[in-house]
Formats: sequence, C-alpha cells, structure tokens
Amino acid sequence: MVFAAPQLKDALDFATAKFEGIRPYVVYPSPQGALISQETIETLVSHEHVVIICGHYEGIDERFVQKYVDLEVSAGDFVLTGGEIPAMLIVDAMSRLVPGVVGKTKAVIEDSFYRGMLDNPNYTRPALWERLEVPELLTGGNERDITRWRRRESVRRTLTRRPDLVARASIREYVSGANIAVFAGNENVNLSGLPELCEAYNLGRPYIIARTHELREAMKESYPAAKILGDIRRVYEVFGGGGDILTVKVSAIARKNSMHSLEAKRKCLEHGGNVLFVFAEDYGMIESLEGICSYLYADEVNIPLNVMIGAGLDRFLGKR
Ligand code: SAM
Repeated sequence: MVFAAPQLKDALDFATAKFEGIRPYVVYPSPQGALISQETIETLVSHEHVVIICGHYEGIDERFVQKYVDLEVSAGDFVLTGGEIPAMLIVDAMSRLVPGVVGKTKAVIEDSFYRGMLDNPNYTRPALWERLEVPELLTGGNERDITRWRRRESVRRTLTRRPDLVARASIREYVSGANIAVFAGNENVNLSGLPELCEAYNLGRPYIIARTHELREAMKESYPAAKILGDIRRVYEVFGGGGDILTVKVSAIARKNSMHSLEAKRKCLEHGGNVLFVFAEDYGMIESLEGICSYLYADEVNIPLNVMIGAGLDRFLGKR
C-alpha cells in the first residue's frame, strides 16, 4: 500500500489555506532521506510554515515527492512503521530553537552540535556518589576556571568520539587567543576587508609585517586599524602575553609537510592556547617559519591575498 498523490495534495492544500496562502516548506521523513542533523533543524526553523508528511506502509507516491516535497530526511539507517516519530523528533528539536521554549538561551548554545562540538560532561549533586566524585574544580565556584574546563572537555570529547564534527565548528572559543599576521611584499598588496574580517571573527587588530621603512609607512596609511611591524618576532613578543603560540602558515595549495586544513584545525584544538594564522602573497616569505602549514586546496593558485585570508579564516573560525 502506498499513499496516493491526489489525497496528499488535498491535505497539503488544506494546510496551506490555514497559513493564509503562504506556501509551507514540505518535509518528508523517509529512510531514504539525508540524515537529520542540527543544521537541518536550524534550516527548518528559519521557515515560517513547515508541513511534515508522514508516510506509512510502503511510503508515498513518488510523484508527490517530486512535485511538492522540499526536503526528504531520515531519522537513521533503520526502518520505522511510519513517519510520526521522526516528525515528533523534528518538531521537538525545532522547538528548542524557538526563543522562550528553553528557559535559558545559553543552555541551547551549550548543547552538543549547536557550536559544532559535543557538550562537556555534566554533573549535579551530590558531590560524592557511589565513590565517584564531581570534579573538584566544578564545586570551587570559579566561573572562569569552570568555563575553561568545559571548553577543554568539549574539545577532548569531540576529538575522541566525533572528530568528524570538528569540520563544522569554529575553534575561536576553544583556543585562548587567535590573530593573524600578513607579510606584505609591496605597497600594492590587496588587504581590503582585513580589519572587518578580524572584527567579525573576534580577533585582535591584525599584524602586517613589512620589511622596509617605506613599506611600513605605506601600510600604516592604507590600513590604520592594523599593527604594522618590521619583523614577525615582534608579533610573538606582543601577541597573547608571550604564551605558547601555535603558528599556522596558510597556503593556497598543498606543500611538502603541509596538512589539510581540517587536520590543522584539530591541532589548534589540541593546542588550546594562542593561534597565529600567517599569510603571505608569496609562500616563500613564510616558508621558514616554525609551525604547521595548512592548505586551502584552491585549484586556482593565484587567488588574491585578501580572498585567501577570508577563505582561510573561515575554515578555522567560521561557524558551520
Ligand atoms: N518502503 C520504504 C523504504 O524502504 O524506503 C519504507 C517505508 S516505511 C515502512 C513507512 C514510512 O515510515 C515512510 O514512508 C517514512 O515516512 C517513515 N519512515 C520509516 N523509516 C524512517 C526513517 N528511518 N526515517 C524517517 N522516516 C522513516
């Protein structure tokens, strides 16, 4: 038995009429759809009206799917008798993102997947139970230490249980500091949008390294929001209070000993301290610096520097 298309269309028209004619976004839960993820839910929440068509028996007429279904999603690689339970889980997950449904907005943000990472382990009273203790730091009441502990545990869990998730997360909140240094070769170097990018990704003022006095003067004039220095060693002295800094040299293509940006992202998370992303129009200018080299895998090597910086930062700091 298969649900027939004309009756399904009647039901959809009936629902649409209730939405004052605004066409709803139509979801069909099916074992053949893409797995439901937090991203799916966030997309659904952005629609004003969502209709979920629950199949039964063998499913629904494929022509209805072709013509009216916007999204086919699966609850997992198993077969249920009907689409009602997937529909309930979709509605439940969507509801959590509607302001006011969960008392504290922060609680939603802290949950697994929202930031692209798994949640940290959670504890409550009593502090000692069956000879198992709540980590002492959590009972100490120092908010900063607790936040740091939670971030570290999130990273540890994600890297051991679901390293694949790292691709979707911004590392910004999981490292103590992040900034960028750009080597300028001449005064025509295109760094437009650099200060805006740094602001958007919550970095400090960017560093521009210019070797000659004339170039430094030209850079100061063109990029007043940047810190212009003559040597990268000065950056290491002033950035992050002299703490341990992981240098990530960003290249448009894979080079000897370079690593995929995802692998580099994991290294940044394991490091947890300050991360300095270094860019140059000509990779030769930064090649000899200590640190890891991450490549963006751009087919077109000659991408303008400011575009490379935008793409590079997005790999590490952009939200999913
Ligand atoms: N003949 C279908 C197939 O093999 O792909 C299975 C039909 S299933 C028995 C009946 C209905 O349950 C489907 O139309 C769908 O709405 C729902 N359903 C079953 N498994 C599901 C899953 N893993 N995710 C989402 N919906 C599911």
